[in-house]
Amino acid sequence: MANLGNPQETIAILNKYGFNFQKKFGQNFLIDTHVLEKIVRAAEIKKDDLVLEIGPGIGTLTQYLCEAAGKVIAVEIDRNLIPILTQDTLAAYDNVTVINEDVLKLDLRELAERENGGRPIKVVANLPYYITTPILMGLFEAHVPLSSITVMVQKEVADRMQAAPGGKDYGALSLAVQYYATPYIAANVPPNCFMPRPNVGSAVIRLTIHETPPVDVTDEALLFKLIRASFAQRRKTLVNGLTNSPELSFSKEEVTEVLTACGFSLMVRGETLSLVDFARLSNAFCRL
Ligand code: SAM
Repeated sequence: MANLGNPQETIAILNKYGFNFQKKFGQNFLIDTHVLEKIVRAAEIKKDDLVLEIGPGIGTLTQYLCEAAGKVIAVEIDRNLIPILTQDTLAAYDNVTVINEDVLKLDLRELAERENGGRPIKVVANLPYYITTPILMGLFEAHVPLSSITVMVQKEVADRMQAAPGGKDYGALSLAVQYYATPYIAANVPPNCFMPRPNVGSAVIRLTIHETPPVDVTDEALLFKLIRASFAQRRKTLVNGLTNSPELSFSKEEVTEVLTACGFSLMVRGETLSLVDFARLSNAFCRL
């Protein structure tokens, strides 16, 4: 079978089907076998795993996943890729299901429950970069049973996911990811590993999902409203950020009272607060 990680094989498939890349779908196909091997290694896939792949493209990574996993479900939005996958590049595998859908419209929790009897699944993908955050937040917030997510993302986004308080990369995405998972950057990947070449650097990041969140919060939704409000205007103090947020309805007096009770200066900014700090704040607001 053709190894699509070899650029000539990818070009041959694209020519055979007269396939045109669609920029709107974030189509940058992998053409480097070392990177493909690294993704699969980082994902630690076992023979009894169910893997959900988002955006299989022409099936390059999917072939590796089919070799390693018990079952693979691949969700692809571009209908022009479906015959390539089902009749050609994945035709030799009986452990893969291709779904022609927008992943953001699928009920992934129901899919995981149905296909894997509620046991945690692994997500592995070279993500379409234009929807990285909605895909990841969708998986987290829908409480899809997951053990890990191993994905190629824009390098800058990977840095934001694993950033610690205080730095320029630290923000709402860092806190959201770290509430649900432990991030680990497994590889940095240059543009020449893709066809066509993206104009940004990429990285493979593995998110190992926590069995229980690292902080206790009474109201998860409030925690995330506070986090979003704190970073909506980065340079503002927390008092201003929280008071001006359209998502929150606390008065300036209430915000001042909670910050003081939690031992924070009234000049504090969100970018210096850890997840533990945000959890304390959130629980204190709940007690108002
Ligand atoms: N996995 C392939 C590879 O590594 O060569 C392709 C990766 S490419 C970066 C992203 C893929 O996601 C494309 O095939 C694209 O059509 C697909 N895609 C984009 N938006 C999608 C969506 N909303 N739902 C499902 N697939 C999507």
